[in-house]
Amino acid sequence: MMLKSALLLVRCAKKHVWDQVRFSSQALSQLSSEKYNVTRKDFATLQSTDVNFFKSVLSDDRVLTDENDVLPFNIDWLKNCRGQSKMVLKPKTTREVSQILSYCNKRRLAICPQGGNTGVVGASVPVFDEIILNMGLMNKIISLDDISGALVCETGCILEVLDKHVQEHGLIMPLDLGAKGSCHIGGNINTNAGGQRLIRYGNLHGSLLGIEAVKADGTVIDCLRSLKKDNTGYHLKHLFVGSEGTLGIVTKLAIHCPVLPKAVTVGFFGLENFDNVLKLFKSAKSSLGEILSAYEMMDNESIRGTLRNMKLTSPIPEYPFYVLMETHGSDADHDTEKVNRFLSKEMDTGLILNGTVATEPGKIQAIWKIRESIPAACMMDGYVFCYDVSLPLANYYQLVPMLRERLGSNASVIGFGHIGDGNIHINVTISDFDKEVLGVLEPFIFEEVSKLQGSVSAEHGIGFRKPQYIHYSKDRSALGLMRDLKTLMDPNGILNPYKVLPDDV
Ligand code: FAD
Ligand code: ZN
Repeated sequence: MMLKSALLLVRCAKKHVWDQVRFSSQALSQLSSEKYNVTRKDFATLQSTDVNFFKSVLSDDRVLTDENDVLPFNIDWLKNCRGQSKMVLKPKTTREVSQILSYCNKRRLAICPQGGNTGVVGASVPVFDEIILNMGLMNKIISLDDISGALVCETGCILEVLDKHVQEHGLIMPLDLGAKGSCHIGGNINTNAGGQRLIRYGNLHGSLLGIEAVKADGTVIDCLRSLKKDNTGYHLKHLFVGSEGTLGIVTKLAIHCPVLPKAVTVGFFGLENFDNVLKLFKSAKSSLGEILSAYEMMDNESIRGTLRNMKLTSPIPEYPFYVLMETHGSDADHDTEKVNRFLSKEMDTGLILNGTVATEPGKIQAIWKIRESIPAACMMDGYVFCYDVSLPLANYYQLVPMLRERLGSNASVIGFGHIGDGNIHINVTISDFDKEVLGVLEPFIFEEVSKLQGSVSAEHGIGFRKPQYIHYSKDRSALGLMRDLKTLMDPNGILNPYKVLPDDV
């Protein structure tokens, strides 16, 4: 809902939108190229003959060139990045994608592939005038095998729509995230999205069965199989997982959907300190075993701001830390017995100070809503610097107090995330974007992550915002191989330039 209304607001802007912007610095974020001081690469610029060609491939209504129509596609969800694209293309078929790419490759016209545009590292919007290739109309569900669980669909299917569809057949999608109402499954693959269920169903490399993708020169790569096991040479489909639109355009995919759990339990607990969050995690793993499907951590500041801004009510009073725990199982009696035993033990030990447990869908949703609203709630307080890092569990929360001390009272620093996967989100909110604050945060935060042997990006990707920091987590030899692959698959570098790979490798 939030995502849609933000886009609508921008869409409603009348003519002369750029004039309005000039007089109202609040209205739109600064252009990414100016904000981050980027130089345009040597690509061709769009000519009227190009527009005519695209209109001959797609129908007129799928070639957007009016600046008011194009504007929302130029801005990312965080309103941190703004590109200057003059055109959005909306293909409906793989053949159209192939024709577009083959033409752009010959003309050296750069492209920014775009899914649901919920990414938070600036990967889904252009930096300069790259053509936006929006995949939203490639949204057909092709087949579902309810015995094997193999779903085959087009890239632009919205995650929540797929989840509802497969639920009707007794299955669920193997991933779930707060942006599910807008993000595309193709966007999920391209970011290697993690989300709340990763602890139980694993990452997308495991769930992805097959892929169809188009290379920069328009060649269609057909790896669209739905077999669980297929060891015939290199696992090419995995090249596209997490490639953030830099190696090809994903057009179709096959994904494995697990069985819809017959019993779901969600607990929301208040805890005294972070140490206890870890102790409770250890206990939950050993007491609940295979039914544990999510273990999320939120600090008090995350919850307090979310309840205030989103006008939500917490089922329990304030505590320094909170845990949202979920189980997915096949036998309600069996699961309830396990959960109850775990709860009574940990209430006795004092690890859980207070809590609530829900099994009805409405109550479960209300609890998840608090957790999933945290990112949007931060946005209501001003400008958000969004960090998404992996750290050893013992050091998981360490950076939050460190940053609070470093930034003082002008910034709000919150920590929350998928603790079961060692993935913390640290959001730093200030009233307006400020380069000095950026300088205090970066590269400091990435240096600290590197010292702790963590990763500078756990699940959001590298995108436009982090290529200069990728070396903190990837060796030069690995970066060199990434560059070789990029050159092989996209020799003219037209696919999502300025993203993922730093220029100096
Ligand atoms: P976009 O943002 O449009 O694009 C992401 C990248 O994929 C870009 O590089 C784009 O060029 C590329 N791309 C998209 N489609 C294609 C295609 N068909 N072919 C080639 N390249 C393509 N992320 C998580 O991992 N876990 C979370 O829990 C999580 N929670 C979130 C909660 C909120 C409220 C929000 C706003 C975001 C959250 N995210 C999370 C980040 C984001 O939702 C994910 O990265 C998501 O996978 C992006 O999907 P999308 O369709 O919006 O892709
Ligand atoms: Zn996340």
